[in-house]
Formats: sequence, C-alpha cells, structure tokens
Amino acid sequence: MQKKVLIIGAGVIGCAIARGLSRYQIDLTVLERGHDVCEGASKANSGIVHAGFDAKPGTMKARLNVEGSQQYEAFCRELGVPYSQPGALVLAFSDDEMKTVQELYQQGIENGVKELSVLNAEEVLALEPNVNKEIKGALLAKTSGLVSPYELTYALADHAAVNGAHFIFNQEVRSIEKIDNGFTVKTQDNQYETDIVINCSGVSSAILHNQLSDDKREIIYRRGQYWLLDHDVNKLFTMTMFQCPTKMGKGVLVSPTVHGNILLGPTAEDIPDSQDTNTTAEGLANVLNTAKKTWPGINTRTGITSFSGIRAHEKNGDFIIGQVEGVSGAYETVGIESPGLTSAPAISALLVGIIEKNEQLTPKDDFKPAVPLPKPFNEMNDDERRQAIAENPLNGKLICRCEVVTEAEIRAAIRRPVGATSIDGVKRRTRAGMGRCQGGFCSPRVAEIISEELGIPMTEVTKSGNSSKLLVGKLEDSFAEV
Ligand SMILES: Cc1cc2nc3c(=O)[nH]c(=O)nc-3n(C[C@H](O)[C@H](O)[C@H](O)COP(=O)(O)OP(=O)(O)OC[C@H]3O[C@@H](n4cnc5c(N)ncnc54)[C@H](O)[C@@H]3O)c2cc1C
Repeated sequence: MQKKVLIIGAGVIGCAIARGLSRYQIDLTVLERGHDVCEGASKANSGIVHAGFDAKPGTMKARLNVEGSQQYEAFCRELGVPYSQPGALVLAFSDDEMKTVQELYQQGIENGVKELSVLNAEEVLALEPNVNKEIKGALLAKTSGLVSPYELTYALADHAAVNGAHFIFNQEVRSIEKIDNGFTVKTQDNQYETDIVINCSGVSSAILHNQLSDDKREIIYRRGQYWLLDHDVNKLFTMTMFQCPTKMGKGVLVSPTVHGNILLGPTAEDIPDSQDTNTTAEGLANVLNTAKKTWPGINTRTGITSFSGIRAHEKNGDFIIGQVEGVSGAYETVGIESPGLTSAPAISALLVGIIEKNEQLTPKDDFKPAVPLPKPFNEMNDDERRQAIAENPLNGKLICRCEVVTEAEIRAAIRRPVGATSIDGVKRRTRAGMGRCQGGFCSPRVAEIISEELGIPMTEVTKSGNSSKLLVGKLEDSFAEV
C-alpha cells in the first residue's frame, strides 16, 4: 500500500511541494480552504523574483532567495509561465539612504547575489528617465525578475495533478491530531487519515503547528495594499523600483508587471484578521503618496483596480521549513512571507529532499513531464492567430476585448487538470477581466461558458466560490411569485 501524504494549503508553496512529491509512489492529496488553488498570499503580491540582497546573511530567507532566484528562469520555462528579468533599482534620495544602498550592496555580495552595482544619479536617470530628479543614486540588481504568481501556482498544481495529486477544495483544516502511525486531520465537515502531513497553510501555519508542538510559533498578519495601473503607462519604466527598506519590509515599489501593467505598493499594516483583504482609502492614499517620491508624475486616472494580500510574518522573522521537531511524519513551511514566491523552487526542493530521505520514498517510473502552457492569443502574431483560428474556430471569438482573450482559451482554462470553476479562476488563468473594464463587458459571457462547461445553472456560477453568486434567480420566477 502506498503511503498517504496530505498537504494543507494550495498556495505556491503547497503546489510546488505537491508537484515535487508527485514524482514518488505515494497517495497524494492537497486540502485547500478556498474554492480554488492560489487563494492566499500567492494571488496577491508584487510578483517580484527578488535578487536576494535584502535578507540578512545566514538566514534561511537569504539562502533560499538566492537559490530560488537562480532557478526561476528554468522553473518557469519548463511550465510555460511568463517570466522576465528587467532588473531592479533601490533608490536613494539622501546621503543617509546612499549609506543604506552601500550596505545593501555589501549584504547582497555576502548573500552571493551576482551583478550588483551602485549607480550615481546620472546613471539612474539614464536608465529610468521618469524617476524623481531629486535622486542621489541607487543599487542596481540586474538579476531581479518578474513572474505571474498565480499563473505559476496554477501550472504547478496542474503538473502535480497530471501526476496523480488530488486537490480537494472548500476544506478548512481545523485540527491535526497525532495518532498511532499517522495523523487525523479534521476540517469543518470531514475527517482524513494520513501517514504524512505537510502544513503549508500560510497565515494559518502557526495555528496548525501549535497543535502538534509545544515549541509555539506566532504569525503576525501583515497586509499589503496595491494600486494596479493600466498598460498605457507601461512604457514609462522598465525596472522594478524600490525605495530604501524599513523595519516593516521592502517599502513601496513602482514596478512593471510581467503582463505590462504598473504596480504601486504595498503597504505594511499589522492587522488582527488573517483574512481581511479589504483595501482602505487610507492605505491606498498612503501608497500613492509614498510612490510619488519615486515617480512624481503618477496619474491615478490610469488606475484600474486595487487589491491587497496578507503576509504571514513569523515573529522571529525567518522561514521555518522541515520536520516539526519531535513529530515524525509531520512537516511544515511556516512564516513564508517575502521572498517566499522567489524562494518557492528552493523551498520545495529542500522540503521534498528531507521528506524523501526521512520517509524513504520510491520514485515513479512513469512521472510525466510538464506540458508548457500554450502561447496566449494576445501574444501571437497575425500568422499564429490565423493558424490558431484554423485549428479551433473558437479562437476567432473574442470574449475579453481589453486583454484579447478568446472563447477557446476560456474553455481550455476550465478543462485544465485543476481547472477554473469561477469568474476569478478564469480571470487569473486567462486574463479575461484583468483589463481596463475589469470584466464589465466579458463577465456575463464568461459566466455562460462556465455554466456550459461545468453543467451547472447560471444561478450557481460564482465570482470566487462560496456565496459569491452572480445571479440571485430568474426574472420569470420572480414574476411568477407576484
Ligand atoms: C503584499 C505581499 C507582497 C509580496 N511580494 C512578494 C514578492 O514580490 N516576491 C516574493 O518573493 N514574495 C512576495 N510575497 C510573499 C509571497 O507572496 C509568499 O511568500 C507566498 O505566496 C507564500 O506562499 P504560501 O503557499 O506559503 O502561502 P499562501 O499563498 O497564502 O497559501 C496558503 C494556502 O493555505 C490555505 N489555507 C490557510 N489556512 C488553511 C486551513 N486551515 N485549511 C486549509 N487551507 C488553508 C489558504 O487559503 C492558501 O491558499 C509577498 C506577499 C505579500 C502578502
């Protein structure tokens, strides 16, 4: 009989570990409290593949950041996920901040970061002419990259599923109990017995850790709010621009995204509720005012949406990765805040290596390689588009005009191994609804396609799972009641 392995949490870390473990002869399940993969921090962050100068030398964060960043290009190429490496600047606006830049340079060298240099004001403005002219200088990190965090997470989940991992959604783990030869994991309405349990539950990771161990952990929920600007302003900057870091983190950045938008943010606010992803007028004003120091000419009329994500900041500040001390068969990733996205390839390789050794796992003979995601229609040239339409006429039906997404792409997103089941699931897998109109035009048609593909009535289609239904009923029924 194969060993049962249960991963809790389908963020980028849980999915990367699931994918790594799907190479072995095990019975693998991923439990997720959301209605889809990528419902926590992995869907709402800056999407920066950090070079690695920021973390304190000697920490897990420093080591895994640099290792992860070096692996990223190959990691994304294998999965067909968008990745680019435009580089990053840490801007200094005073002599004191120039000292910080010099310290970050030294720290980066100590962490093993390549291609770092310190620039003067003229050199910065030659690279980024729209930066505030008051600039004194900057750290240039050429290896800093950009990734689409949700597209990466979906691709990791798909690859794990193709190799036998089962994903079960809407399952919030409430307790883990050690029993003879394994664990009982209880959710709000189910119970699972497993030989091995892996806690990758982000903001909940300390709560679940503390049920297994007397060595208590504490997660501080640190929210980050963002503005997202439209493609129009994309050409104004090429690199990610940080300001000098503070004790709360890397500060407010102005950065292109891998899809050509501009991101402003995040804030760093400690909050009591681990799921409070509201944005606030105060938080967004704070982002704007701070970002103006980098880019005085910001035009908020180009803003198309705002969002926030919650960092799982462990109070001692470093990643905790490995076996739960003294509890054989229990493993965890706790406190995976930034640079967790960057470190995902290295974190999963580290933990999968530990589990393989401790649990003496046997590799599969029939592990299937990843099938890279196809080129999106909006990135194709005219010849490629003609061919795509000839192969599938549904590529000739545009559903999202802002982001140029076709009906064929939306249907394919729902049919993926871990497919979309909601409007937001389609949006993040295809970009339909990510543009200027934020789904104002395409959402009704996307809802119809979801209804057709999943064989559910339109009244059951949700924006983002649970009770977020789009329609409350049929007009004819409400007239019948009158
Ligand atoms: C504002 C912000 C900016 C960031 N910017 C960057 C960046 O630019 N670069 C970078 O490298 N990193 C960045 N990070 C960090 C990065 O996003 C995280 O380190 C990474 O996403 C963590 O992945 P995860 O899988 O551990 O957590 P998550 O993505 O949060 O996944 C945990 C999953 O567990 C589920 N879950 C929680 N509790 C339970 C439960 N009880 N039962 C079942 N499921 C449960 C959640 O729904 C979630 O899906 C940023 C984070 C934030 C918030």
